[in-house]
Amino acid sequence: MPHIKLFIPGPIEVSEKTLAAMAKPMIGHRSGDFKKLYAAIQPQLQALFYTKQPVFLSTSSSWGVMEGAINNVVGKKVLNCMNGAFSDKWLDVSRRCGKQADGLQAEWGKPVDPKALDAKLATGEYDAVTIIHNETSTGVMSNIEELAAVLRKYPNVISIVDTVSSFSVVPIKMDELGIDVLLTGSQKALALPPGLSLFACSERAFERAAQIQGRGYYFDFLEFKKNAEGSMTPSTPCISQIYALQSKVEEIFAEGLEARYARQAKTNQLVADWVVARGFEFFAEEGYRSKSLTCISNNKGLDMEAVNALLKKRYSAMINCGYGKIKGTTFRISNMGDETEATISELLTWLDDCIKG
Ligand SMILES: *Cc1c(COP(=O)(O)O)cnc(C)c1O
Repeated sequence: MPHIKLFIPGPIEVSEKTLAAMAKPMIGHRSGDFKKLYAAIQPQLQALFYTKQPVFLSTSSSWGVMEGAINNVVGKKVLNCMNGAFSDKWLDVSRRCGKQADGLQAEWGKPVDPKALDAKLATGEYDAVTIIHNETSTGVMSNIEELAAVLRKYPNVISIVDTVSSFSVVPIKMDELGIDVLLTGSQKALALPPGLSLFACSERAFERAAQIQGRGYYFDFLEFKKNAEGSMTPSTPCISQIYALQSKVEEIFAEGLEARYARQAKTNQLVADWVVARGFEFFAEEGYRSKSLTCISNNKGLDMEAVNALLKKRYSAMINCGYGKIKGTTFRISNMGDETEATISELLTWLDDCIKG
């Protein structure tokens, strides 16, 4: 099978170095070597989360922790902020967990509205809220600082924030913002293979969890907390994933966080300039465009599936032709992970060539 370079917004391209890190021999998950590995990456993970709390590792995809968060902290009723495919799904997931849940729906392409959130929380009906910081389906990045300011007015409402496609793309200061559960996944902004999730919880989130019946076992946040005290996970994790994470975290700090944010802002701007120069339009509302991917309205009615097929054939690369109900009417280009100005510029010249036919 030829190597097709992924510019889709997840899973994204994984470097040879990361893949090689996964090929190390196994160690016991209760061994001293494992505990050393786990403990060694904690300070860097905490720096990435901007938290003093322990960062937990779950070798599940993000939905495992997203569902787990519902089961751990929702007592009364959860408000699911919805503005795209992933965030919309969270309402369905909350109800499947047997929880009382309401949706706060924004139109796709728009961010979560802080005023609407405030009005909903003011009813006093809710004790938890879910927000997706960066809606990967629509390329919308909500303003987490404004939303967090609203959430801080309601200390009894536990906030659950998904940063799967924005983590390490922009700083998300968990402790400073007062976010209760912050979670991310491996296959998007971290450029790791799918199947690993990282999350951290505030003291309030742990206190809430302690009052909740039916947390289950596999995603019981208090089990994660207890095991983390001994630098372990509750059950056997995919140790290869943790080797990959260690390798990636080393890279991130070798580059430097600020340099990483700046590089991604630049590659994102290159795509934005191309969109404007070619007469395309952004799907996301102005001021709320994601920094990690671009969702482009196919306003020219191009056959993007055909363009993508050409891109694959000629250049062994792939973009995405839209997700959920905007499949076909939009296309998406990811600039997450290891991409540089050189690789994104190259992709854009390939796209121009393939659009010509
Ligand atoms: C991809 C994605 C998810 C789902 O992740 P899985 O790893 O498939 O469980 C959740 N939230 C966002 C914002 C995503 O982009």
